[in-house]
Amino acid sequence: MNLRKVSAAAATVLALSLTATACGSDDGDGGDSGDGGDGKKITIGIKYDQPGLGLKTPDGYTGFDVDVATYVAKELGYDAKDITWKETPSADREEALKRGDVDFIAATYSITDERKEKVDFAGPYLLAHQDLLIRSDDNIAKGADINGKKLCSVAGSTSAQNIKNDIAPKAQLRERGTYSECLDGLASGAVDALTTDDSILAGYASQNEYKGKFKLAGLNLSNENYGIGVKKGDTEMLDKINKALEKMVEDKSWDKAVTDNFGPADYKNEPAPKIGDIVK
Ligand code: GLU
Repeated sequence: MNLRKVSAAAATVLALSLTATACGSDDGDGGDSGDGGDGKKITIGIKYDQPGLGLKTPDGYTGFDVDVATYVAKELGYDAKDITWKETPSADREEALKRGDVDFIAATYSITDERKEKVDFAGPYLLAHQDLLIRSDDNIAKGADINGKKLCSVAGSTSAQNIKNDIAPKAQLRERGTYSECLDGLASGAVDALTTDDSILAGYASQNEYKGKFKLAGLNLSNENYGIGVKKGDTEMLDKINKALEKMVEDKSWDKAVTDNFGPADYKNEPAPKIGDIVK
């Protein structure tokens, strides 16, 4: 899998969809999709460049977030063929929900108090932890050791914010639009580390082109409780999604999604969280 190609393709898709929006075209596939089961479509925000979580490939969309979203959509009355996927980069998620571009977002989206002022969250459905991706011959023992080092992360993410506010305020942080944009810099030596959730980093480290080159530092720098973002005030949608997530754990579909998507990267995930149970 060539992530540069994937993110170039994602950029094209994003550019095309922005053009469509700018032209005022509305094909009825947008955010106001109704409540399902009536032949209508649902639009779901995911990431396009995160192997194991949300990945756009020539054959379709894969990853844990994609499987969770597909399960939830089914419970809301939408078959897989009724789903329109839309890329929602980290910095645009709250606005995408506000604008009604998407009906819900499942995109490694951590539940935070700040974000809860703008959107509502169902879940959590996964607990991840912030970590560092570094070159295999490197070692970083603790978060504070990144002070002074060149670090890459994504604008609008908790990963970038945690570094600036807390973990290593003196790190030379470069903020990109997507995580895959940080990978070239890590390979070439332009940056010393890429920081975000261990779930995402494990996916990158296991890619053929990076195997043996990159590793996770193994630091547990934060708790990232992944939620499904919905438009603020849409309690009906929120309740339905929470019920769907509970059912997904009960009927073991959650375990299957874990094995299918995290198995290849050998990512050791935390057990399924209880709905409403946020680990601070
Ligand atoms: N889970 C973190 C967040 O929501 C980092 C990953 C991401 O940017 O999606 O900010």
